[in-house]
Amino acid sequence: MADYSKVLRVCALYPDLMNIYADRGNLLLLERRCRWRGIGFALQASGLGDQLDPDGADLYYIGGGQDRDQKLCALDLAEVKRDALHTAAARGAVILAVCGGYQLLGHSYQLGDEELPGVGLVDLRTVRESGPRLIGNCAIEADVGTGPRVIAGFENHGGRSYLGEGEQPLGRVLRGHGNNGNDGFEGVHRRNVIGTYLHGPLLPKNAWLADRLIELALGIELEPLDDAMEDAAHESARRAAGL
Ligand code: GLN
Repeated sequence: MADYSKVLRVCALYPDLMNIYADRGNLLLLERRCRWRGIGFALQASGLGDQLDPDGADLYYIGGGQDRDQKLCALDLAEVKRDALHTAAARGAVILAVCGGYQLLGHSYQLGDEELPGVGLVDLRTVRESGPRLIGNCAIEADVGTGPRVIAGFENHGGRSYLGEGEQPLGRVLRGHGNNGNDGFEGVHRRNVIGTYLHGPLLPKNAWLADRLIELALGIELEPLDDAMEDAAHESARRAAGL
C-alpha cells in the first residue's frame, strides 16, 4: 500500500502574470489527484518581489506568459529568486515550467535588441528569430522514469529555444514544432527540473505526467486511479496532434 500520509507543497510563481492558456489548470489537476488519494495539498504563491523559500515546497511551478509580463518576471526571477531556485533544484525539488516559464529556466531570452535574463538552471538559450510563431497541436515522446510515453498538448511561442551540448530535452517531437522547429527536441529535463512548451493545460491532458511529478516530488509511488475521463482527454489531445 502506498504511503499517502504526506502533503504535496506546491509553490506557484507569478500565478497572476504567468497563466496563459489556462496554465493554472496544471495546479488544479495536481490538487485533485492528491485529494482523490487522500494526499494533502498545500498551495502557496510567490509573486513579484516575494522571497522564495528554497525548502518551502516540493514542487515549484511557473506557467507561460506574454512577452510583456514575462519581462517583469524575468527580472524578478534573476534578482530575487535565482539563488533559492538553484537551492531547491539541488535538493531535488521538482521544478515544472511551461512555455514562457520554461524559456526563463535557461540563460537568456533574446528579444530583438533586448536580452531578458534567465535563472540558468539549465543550459538553454531562447531567441526571437525571423519566421512565424510556432503554433499548433504537438505530441512528443518522453521518458520521465516510466518508460517512453506520449505527452500531447498545444504550443504557441515566438521564441525558439536551443539546448546546450549535453543538456537533455524532455522529449522527441512526434508532431509539431518543439523547441525551435528544427532539431526535433522538445523541452528540457535535468534531474527533477522539467521545462516544456506544451500548454493544454499540460497536466489535465497528460494525467500520467501529473502523477509522475507527484511521485518525484514526494518520493512515493502512487496507485493508479480510475482515469477513464483523463485517458479520453489524452486520446483527444493525441488525435488533435495527428497521432
Ligand atoms: N512569450 C513567449 C513567446 O512567445 C512565451 C509564450 C507562451 O508562454 N505561450 O515565445
